[in-house]
Amino acid sequence: MFWHRRTVGRVELAFTDRDGGSSEGPWSSLNLGTSNGDVDDLVRRNLELVSEELDVDRLVRMTQVHGAEVAWTDEVAAGEIPVADVLLTDEPGVGVLVRVADCTPIVIVGLDEPVAGVVHCGREGLVKGVVMAAVGSLRERGAEALEAYVGPRACGRCYELPEEMADAVGAVVPEARSTTSWGTPAIDVGAGVMAQLRELGIPATDLGAHECTIEDERFYSYRRQGQDSGRFGAVAVIR
Ligand SMILES: [Zn+2]
Repeated sequence: MFWHRRTVGRVELAFTDRDGGSSEGPWSSLNLGTSNGDVDDLVRRNLELVSEELDVDRLVRMTQVHGAEVAWTDEVAAGEIPVADVLLTDEPGVGVLVRVADCTPIVIVGLDEPVAGVVHCGREGLVKGVVMAAVGSLRERGAEALEAYVGPRACGRCYELPEEMADAVGAVVPEARSTTSWGTPAIDVGAGVMAQLRELGIPATDLGAHECTIEDERFYSYRRQGQDSGRFGAVAVIR
């Protein structure tokens, strides 16, 4: 169920993998995505399993749109699923969930203030500054000492793009421009995220540095599996 799990101060964070859920076929088995063809009831069960395992009172998720909008859980009504790519909380017991298949999942933890959040960052998020939006919003609520954990994603040697698109990303975040293992233009979103966090002065641990969702079947991958790809996720909860 969990590829990685740890506690940092008052915050517990976890990255899921594909194991331990109820979904079948291409979604097998811990698919957390609701808009990819899987059976709704099975996805609901998978979300419940993760909630139970992490002992959260409420698990808030978001409709991710490759933007830089931020939502705080205290502004999200019960049952509401905000449209955002950053989900932050200062409420103990409330879990925040980001869902991915090749994009980069990021968890941000407050060290002096009880805050935590998750971020969804792909090619567009990198260019739009979704990481900066997350950090800015956390700092607005008084959290200065922050730490980040970056999870598994498509690696820079697999994420091929047309040259023009790869160069457009590189023009904004030079560290993200890369080349595939077969010599064509690519981007490394994880490297770009790490560079942006560094620039923001946030110590970051790149948990997914040696992983690749496209190459490793422990994870879901949109590029490998197409439309039927499930979603794995990252959760943060304040205790
Ligand atoms: Zn790869």
